[in-house]
Amino acid sequence: MYSSKVDAMTVSTTFTTQDMRAAILHHLTYTMGKDADHATTYDWRMALSFAVRDRIVDGWFASTRKSYEAGAKRVYYLSMEFLIGRLLQDGLVNLRLLDDACEALTALGLDPWQVISNEPDAALGNGGLGRLAACFLESLSSLGVPAHGYGIRYEHGLFRQSFVDGRQVELPETWLQQHHAWEFERPEARYRIGFGGDARDAGWDPAEAVIAAAYDTPIVGWQGRWANTLRLWAAKPVEAFDLDSFNRGDFVGAATPEAMARTISRVLYPDDTTEIGKELRLKQEYFFTAASLADILRRFEMEHGDLRKLPEKVAIQLNDTHPAIAGPELVRLLHDDNGIPFDEAMDLARSTLGYTNHTLLPEALERWSDHLFGRLLPRHLEIIDRIDQAHRATYPSSSVTIREPGVVKMGELSFVMAHRVNGVSALHTELMKSTVFKELNALHPDRIVNETNGVTPRRWLLSSNPRLASLITERIGEDWVGDLEQLSRLEEHVGDAGFLSAYAEAKRANKADLAAWIEAEHGIALDPAMMFDVQIKRLHEYKRQHLNILEAIALWQAIRAAPDADWTPRVKIFAGKAAPGYHFAKDIIRLINDVAEVVNADPVTRDKLKIVFLPNYNVTLAERLIPASDLSEQISTAGKEASGTGNMKFALNGALTIGTLDGANVEIRERVGEENFFLFGMTADEVVARRKIKDHAAKAIAVDPRLAAALAAVRDGTFCAEEPDRYAHIVQNLSGPDYFLVSSDFTDYWRAQREVDAAYRDADGWTRMAARNTVRSGWFSSDRTIRGYMADVWGAEPVI
Ligand SMILES: *Cc1c(COP(=O)(O)O)cnc(C)c1O
Repeated sequence: MYSSKVDAMTVSTTFTTQDMRAAILHHLTYTMGKDADHATTYDWRMALSFAVRDRIVDGWFASTRKSYEAGAKRVYYLSMEFLIGRLLQDGLVNLRLLDDACEALTALGLDPWQVISNEPDAALGNGGLGRLAACFLESLSSLGVPAHGYGIRYEHGLFRQSFVDGRQVELPETWLQQHHAWEFERPEARYRIGFGGDARDAGWDPAEAVIAAAYDTPIVGWQGRWANTLRLWAAKPVEAFDLDSFNRGDFVGAATPEAMARTISRVLYPDDTTEIGKELRLKQEYFFTAASLADILRRFEMEHGDLRKLPEKVAIQLNDTHPAIAGPELVRLLHDDNGIPFDEAMDLARSTLGYTNHTLLPEALERWSDHLFGRLLPRHLEIIDRIDQAHRATYPSSSVTIREPGVVKMGELSFVMAHRVNGVSALHTELMKSTVFKELNALHPDRIVNETNGVTPRRWLLSSNPRLASLITERIGEDWVGDLEQLSRLEEHVGDAGFLSAYAEAKRANKADLAAWIEAEHGIALDPAMMFDVQIKRLHEYKRQHLNILEAIALWQAIRAAPDADWTPRVKIFAGKAAPGYHFAKDIIRLINDVAEVVNADPVTRDKLKIVFLPNYNVTLAERLIPASDLSEQISTAGKEASGTGNMKFALNGALTIGTLDGANVEIRERVGEENFFLFGMTADEVVARRKIKDHAAKAIAVDPRLAAALAAVRDGTFCAEEPDRYAHIVQNLSGPDYFLVSSDFTDYWRAQREVDAAYRDADGWTRMAARNTVRSGWFSSDRTIRGYMADVWGAEPVI
């Protein structure tokens, strides 16, 4: 029966639809305490989740056992964010139980998709960085590498976004109001995390403390052969309750310790591109890093003992500088707590740590005031000073500093305390070497390596695009799921008319599904024959959603001027959240919504151009949109997007990219072929040169009447008659400083878009280009990325 212990390898073959039905009913009855007549969709979804979780747990234990037996090196991925999204469908797909589950639910009189989509989307991250961490965990499990992800169990993930009169409104995210089906609380795994107090005699006497309490979620890999653990820390009070206050009648005061402690894991900071410098953020960073390191050392000492062997058995990866405190904390644990000499402790820590840099934006590089830092982490500040002194003593002629008057520089600290520092695309890594870490790279020429990002093909193709996945499997078998480069075996099919028409049909059907959903949810009717032109990502000036909407305005004006010309109908779909304090980005959202209202109501252009901004972008929405996209907008100012991973998901699913030579776009274009990619815009070098030209924006506007007219329409209130000046500041920016060079890249963007129009009108030609994108995107699997880290950074190997 379903509860019997089965070998992890045989999960999928021994479990039938009948077993699934029995398991669901068992959990509905005995876990949810409901009978079938009174169960809600929530009850059914939970029952199904527990049934699936049971199937994962045996393999999970088997993985733990094999890791201990092998004494293998373990990988620890420390990340402030894990944007995991929904886990039920992922689990069903990886265990290959999706069909059984759907049949079982249907037999029980339920709509399977209604049940599966009842799950909240776990938004414990802002965007690309957090989603990368989630893809990495899945790949580590699919490859059978002993690994743990460590992060924070935010009570409230990224805010939910809605629009009121076109404006973004933020609502609290409440995923934990329901029981989280996948996690196991671990009351035995608790650590006391100190803050404040005094540092003295190479020791530390914290003034306050909170408890970090572990919650484990199993992350199952492809075919259920391996499962790793995502361990998230929740902050709890050392003492839940102040009884003295309570007895004095101060009931609020009595609950204060609890409220204070819990604040640390209460909410995710909703901004991933500006350094915040807030005390609570530093507390969050130290809280999860210290708890994770304590846990890692506890496991290491149990397995191996001698801390001097740490780098042989443990690899710790820092996802950006958010866990950079790991360097000094590890030195503190080794030196202060375990008596290892300081220099040796520093070497051990460095050999264990790797650091991934995610951005070159200066405003995103973390720096802390040493006043705040010293108040919260006095001993760490001393240790950082010593690390800084040691580095300067070793390289006396270098001007690199980790400390400057008043500040602690986390980027430099991370670099100095890691044996490998990696960028996330070839271009980004080169720019890192020539800009932010130029001097450090000269001192440590072997330290910087490149590991171009990737995405997991299980979620981003097999699960989210079943039509295309089946077509691929029909042609080349299903080994591609675990080895995505096998997609290249489809190359010969791209000339085959039968394959191409099936490929086109899969895309058409995906578009029809999306159109039906948009009509049902948002009341906007779309013709699936239109080109679906999609830009979905965080709102940021460097990502240039405003370039896209300006082009839409110019197109609208052009269609109105010649309505009978042969236009290629398209819908521009946007989605993305703006950081709540980023007013310019929020105004871009409002502008897009205002333009949509005017353009969509225009009878002259109505069947040729539509604009839709879908609210609340998250992983689930991405899974819905990407398989139905024709055109992928990857139009950042060159040199600003470190890699991008959205670009990879689109190419894999057969959307053609219109893009700049930025981040991984460069590598996507190299692989899919330049004839299957719409390139425009300045290069990173040209961007730097262009900014030096006086009045570059005004000059660009002066030579492009279309751009001038589009800006004039924004300026004169065409889209906001009730408040004509609403967007004056945007026009002013794009005509003046225009740091992100929207105006200077507009003309070439318009040109490339018209090439897109022409290409789309040749339906067969378009399908061939789209299919080539799929066939040649196998390299962008996060399995490949993880293999790169194992070889270049971690020195770890799979156990299966
Ligand atoms: C992939 C993904 C991202 C990253 O998108 P980019 O276009 O690379 O910025 C952000 N958010 C979600 C929900 C994603 O799935």
